[in-house]
Amino acid sequence: MTHPGRISLADLSRLDAGVLLRGNSSQLDYQHSPTLEELTECLCFSPGDGRIWLNDQRMLLIHASSLGTLRRELIDTLGIEAARGLLTRTGYVSGTRDAQLVRQRWPDADPASIFGAGTQLHGLEGVVKVEPVHFEFDTEQGRYEGEFLWHHSSEDDEHIAAYGIGTDPACWLELGYAIGYVSGLVGRLVLFREVECRSMGSRQCRVIGKTAELWPDAEEDLRYLNPQGYASPTVISAEQSTVVATTAEADNSVKMIGASAAFTAASHALQKVAGTQATVLLTGESGVGKELFATMLHRLSPRSQQPFVAFNCAAIPENLLESELFGVERGAFTGASHSRAGRFERAHGGTLFLDEIATLSAAGQSKLLRALQEREVERVGGSRAIKVDVRVVAATNEDLRDAVKRGEFREDLFYRLNVFPIPLPPLRERRDDIPLLVSHFFQHYCQLHGRLLRGMTQKATQALLNYDFPGNIRELQNLIERGVIAADEDGLVDIPHLFRNEKIPQSMIFSVNRQGALSNKPQAAAASLWEQLQQLAGDELSMEQLEQRLLQEAVERANGNLAAAARQLGLSRAQLAYRLQKR
Ligand SMILES: [Zn+2]
Repeated sequence: MTHPGRISLADLSRLDAGVLLRGNSSQLDYQHSPTLEELTECLCFSPGDGRIWLNDQRMLLIHASSLGTLRRELIDTLGIEAARGLLTRTGYVSGTRDAQLVRQRWPDADPASIFGAGTQLHGLEGVVKVEPVHFEFDTEQGRYEGEFLWHHSSEDDEHIAAYGIGTDPACWLELGYAIGYVSGLVGRLVLFREVECRSMGSRQCRVIGKTAELWPDAEEDLRYLNPQGYASPTVISAEQSTVVATTAEADNSVKMIGASAAFTAASHALQKVAGTQATVLLTGESGVGKELFATMLHRLSPRSQQPFVAFNCAAIPENLLESELFGVERGAFTGASHSRAGRFERAHGGTLFLDEIATLSAAGQSKLLRALQEREVERVGGSRAIKVDVRVVAATNEDLRDAVKRGEFREDLFYRLNVFPIPLPPLRERRDDIPLLVSHFFQHYCQLHGRLLRGMTQKATQALLNYDFPGNIRELQNLIERGVIAADEDGLVDIPHLFRNEKIPQSMIFSVNRQGALSNKPQAAAASLWEQLQQLAGDELSMEQLEQRLLQEAVERANGNLAAAARQLGLSRAQLAYRLQKR
């Protein structure tokens, strides 16, 4: 909702285009989006999964006293100046992340409320209660000025417990947060200073923030923001600080995206082996990105200027497999009207990627083994051996050891291929990467299909974070593409745009309710159906009547579409039609 006469946040993000933005704290109205309640809805606990989310950012519930211990050890080992810098920058990262969250989720909110949201988020995260005294901003003038009171800051508690009352302010994390949050919104460096602090004996803390140019001695503060010390810092935008591991600087079309431990381990193994000639075996469920890893391996290898040839062993009928892989001489069989080189020859000097290697027939396996051992191939219908210099990268979604035990895969070939195995984790085991992947594919498909969308709804984000992705990254990619196409222009992608027949699990996700307690909110539709069932059970109804009510309810819910209603009920369309006729 854009209020007439107000300037939306979308304008705020176009600051560089010279948009005039003025406002002050008198416009702050806590009834406007984002309200405290809306911000609280972003916080989700997923205890069954070991994660807490603030929208799409993973959070930690950490003991204040343990952070206090860390803080004290930092001061004792690094000295007070270095520790202060470190904590200021840590807070800064939190602040930019929260600014990014608010910008993404409420692009149309009025600027005063957006500035106010930071104070509420800081409180929601349990760090400090912020009370704005006043603030005003005028971006044409490049000016921001603000004054705030901080009540019961957690860092002061820890500082006072460890060091008692002193002469210097101690709310470094909080200060870094304020600098990061406000700078992230204003698009310029805004410096905050704590002029009164509980650690100095004041009843509360008081902070003053101004655009860096307005402080006569900004150098004082800058050294805490820059890890190198005194060099003038650049404002790191929230976008820039997002960790995206991409190994393909040379080509933007190939990107490996992830920051989770499982992903990093696989990337590390890949980088280690890329420079060698070793045969690599990529294992993992289908859709985890085996071909992408193989492509990347090739690009990072000394063979990168030579051909990369990909071949899916399952996609070719068995009678053609041999000629596809090893080539064919003219007249070898009906239809072989001229001689042709196989994949091995075409990959000469480069890399041959053999996907779904477990589907190779016994004959195919022995030919492949020979090619790997002798480094030469013989075309079908030919009699001379052709030397080939090929690095083989094989991939499979099956357990090859099991296939060997079952007698379906040659043991000697297995050992030839299994020189350097890299297991690629399924997406559900690297959930920390889902937000990065979602944002990457969202941007990619908006651009590809020329769609202007504002983002994803909170519910859609939660569903993606909890979905099991049996089809892994490929499935996520398909869901996002579908959602981008199905959503309304200038709107948000919601659950029905993403999911069709996929089974969305009744997720073990908890949110914070109005009273601040955790509650498990089942999906709205399921809840009301369940409530109705409970009501029905209270009435004097026979099983048949109960069933009829349930069937009719499902049909109404599906707007009379029997097939859709049947899917909801786990019945076939014919079964549903039959049961409805019984009454
Ligand atoms: Zn303080």
